[in-house]
Amino acid sequence: MQLTANGKEPMPIAIAVYNALNKKAIYTLSVTNIQGTRTVEVRLPVSPEKGVISIWRVNAESDYDKDLGFSVDNISRVDLTQDLKSISHDKHLMNFIKFAEDFAEKASWLSAGDKENRHSVYKSDDGKFVIFYTDEIIGEDGKPRKTSMRVNNKKGWMELAKKYVVGYTIPEIVAILLHEYSHLWKNRVHSDEFEADLNALKIYCALGFPKKEGASGFYKVFYRTDSDLNIERMRRIRNFLKNYERTNFKTAA
Ligand SMILES: [Zn+2]
Repeated sequence: MQLTANGKEPMPIAIAVYNALNKKAIYTLSVTNIQGTRTVEVRLPVSPEKGVISIWRVNAESDYDKDLGFSVDNISRVDLTQDLKSISHDKHLMNFIKFAEDFAEKASWLSAGDKENRHSVYKSDDGKFVIFYTDEIIGEDGKPRKTSMRVNNKKGWMELAKKYVVGYTIPEIVAILLHEYSHLWKNRVHSDEFEADLNALKIYCALGFPKKEGASGFYKVFYRTDSDLNIERMRRIRNFLKNYERTNFKTAA
């Protein structure tokens, strides 16, 4: 999809697409600066049957001002550019993507257990992938962890904390699920975080997801735990995303 907005003065506008039946399922959310007329690409590899497009001024002083100072002149459908041929040969991965996209779409309303069962279990149709959905991830010391996700290296089970995941968009959830997938099934060195980030982003970009949310997904994971390692990971992630079109073109040539 593409939309053309016009701002009388320079301003940041937010563009969001959410499910008409459930406002918490957000298919994209990002901020763009406009000045004069600007056409913005809105990428939706996963889209709702009925969706709502919401656009507002980010620096508005009041709710009333959110609609003022800009107009949306055109919204049109355009084909999504994807690079599926780089991943479609990998059936194991394609099955995981289907599972991850489906989970991401439902994550805001799926159960994450209760007092008796501290998690709910979700399995892919082929039974190969398992997500333990819990309110908070608990460490071996019995204390809650600030992490949104982790993967059990031996069994391949993924664990996700709903408390944090509800603050993510669908593309952001897919990005970090692909990171966990990469640890086990794409990395040459299983435990390498940098390798898992880049493997995840290659798949994420090939699917046509918005680059901004590739970065913001990881940022949301890192900002609670801003170690030197995570700062360096963020730097490499931004760099990869910035260069994606160019490197992608190179490998395709
Ligand atoms: Zn990791």
